[in-house]
Amino acid sequence: MTIDRIIKKFEENHPNEDTTKLRLAYDFALEAHAGQLRKTGEPYIQHPLHTAFLLTEIKADLPTIIAGLIHDVPEDTDKTIEDVRKNFGEEVATLVEGVTKLGKIKYRGIERYRENLKKMFLAMATDIRVIFIKFCDRLHNLRTLEGLPEAKQKRIAQETLEIYAPIAGMLGIWRLKWQLEDLCFKYLYPEKFQELEQKYEVEKKAERNQYFQKIKKELLPRLAETNLKYDLEVRFKHLYSIYQKMQRKDRKFDEIYDVFALRIIVPTIDDCYKVLGIIHTIWRPKPNRFKDYIAVPKPNGYRSLHTTIFGPEGKAVEFQIRTQEMHEESLYGLAAHWYYKAKNQNELQPHWVKEIVDIQKEISDTSELIKNIKLNIFNDRIFVFSPKGDVFELPEYSTPIDFAYAVHTNIGNQATGAIINDRLAKLDQELKNGDLVEIITDKGRQYPNRDWLKFVKTKRARDCIKQFAKKSPIENFKRFLPSRKKE
Ligand code: MN
Repeated sequence: MTIDRIIKKFEENHPNEDTTKLRLAYDFALEAHAGQLRKTGEPYIQHPLHTAFLLTEIKADLPTIIAGLIHDVPEDTDKTIEDVRKNFGEEVATLVEGVTKLGKIKYRGIERYRENLKKMFLAMATDIRVIFIKFCDRLHNLRTLEGLPEAKQKRIAQETLEIYAPIAGMLGIWRLKWQLEDLCFKYLYPEKFQELEQKYEVEKKAERNQYFQKIKKELLPRLAETNLKYDLEVRFKHLYSIYQKMQRKDRKFDEIYDVFALRIIVPTIDDCYKVLGIIHTIWRPKPNRFKDYIAVPKPNGYRSLHTTIFGPEGKAVEFQIRTQEMHEESLYGLAAHWYYKAKNQNELQPHWVKEIVDIQKEISDTSELIKNIKLNIFNDRIFVFSPKGDVFELPEYSTPIDFAYAVHTNIGNQATGAIINDRLAKLDQELKNGDLVEIITDKGRQYPNRDWLKFVKTKRARDCIKQFAKKSPIENFKRFLPSRKKE
């Protein structure tokens, strides 16, 4: 990957913008990462370059791509976030900081943390662009996963599949979701993946192409009569969704594969209905399979016409008909939405804020997860990490003692100090969303300090303190008895 390719791609979507800063960001990152290699052996700079390129593909704006180029600089090099701020300004620095923070979220397969992690991911990314950068970063890391040991490959793949991919889906960025899922599928279930890939890509490919030719032979002359401009494409079926369907419905590959799917992209909404009419006059539509998501969009904003017809040889063929704008929205979700908005109205930044709120409102009907999300923070909840990367949800204004008791009663009882984001902190210090909290304990100590009741916020901490403080005189006495095993 080269910076020139990135600039060229960026200019395709943003013809009038000054790209000097992209080159500066590249120089900055190149210097910072000088001499560093990736596990795959290539120069480190290739990773931020690829990340930035993926961002241009989803039509991200200039600050986002700059941030993509330098996203690993503060974490992995001598240059600091202050250097970033000085050179590229507050907006870019905030994006980079956000990416660094999101990078601290780790999912290690413990299910009870999963929902919290997803919520935290969204809560921490106060700017949706941070999520886009993190996704592109992750996508490139997945593509270059072979350099890592197997255990790490699996951990990253699982985290992506269970945390990142569902969030990409929620935000309507299907293109990213599919790519992430297929890559994870490959690492998590290598045999199943290969089996499906072999069937889909090798055995069935010729058959699929032949059938496509038959459809074209009937359809294209009819489309030509109307002078419509159109794009016809065979729909990309992603392997992980085939796998999931096979699992869920306990069906054979052939049954799922047999639905042949095509997409037609036309300039206007009128054209969509025209094409639909043409298709229905050539082939008989399957009853109850026509869906007008243009007149009535899906809750997440998805628009398209869907119909299934009995095609050549009586096989079921599914058509999706949509405009270019609808198409890009369905692939890039919010990113496309914002791009078209910006293009049409010359409005960029502030829309992000509104948009995410709107989307969250829309999705809230269907998704339990998003239901509680207010803009950028869950009103009165915060999420903090343990040093191992586990996530704990706490009420606002919680303290290290609340955190300690959330982790384990003993940690609470034995707490003597706290380290918040690598800095020594008092036990009553207010925790902030995204803080990394470590509790210093004194193993010899068994009872909490009653004074903690003055500042703790959680019921759990309060109950524990009361309970143990009550017990303490007796327990104190027991201390002098022959030692007993602790729980
Ligand atoms: Mn990275």
